[in-house]
Amino acid sequence: MTKGTAARGKHTAKRTHMQCRRCGNRSYHKRKRQCAYCGYPNPKLRRYSWVRKNFNKRRRID
Ligand SMILES: [Zn+2]
Repeated sequence: MTKGTAARGKHTAKRTHMQCRRCGNRSYHKRKRQCAYCGYPNPKLRRYSWVRKNFNKRRRID
């Protein structure tokens, strides 16, 4: 191994996130089985006052 940042070609090999069923973003973590954007299997939407989110990219969520 050389010094510095190496093997950058592999860093996109595994997709950790897939498309979320609820928000439509590619934020659903495969192994954690939770969406980083909306917190998907959680019935409550993951939302905070300090971030403005548009949840209605594909589907209508209130
Ligand atoms: Zn989601």
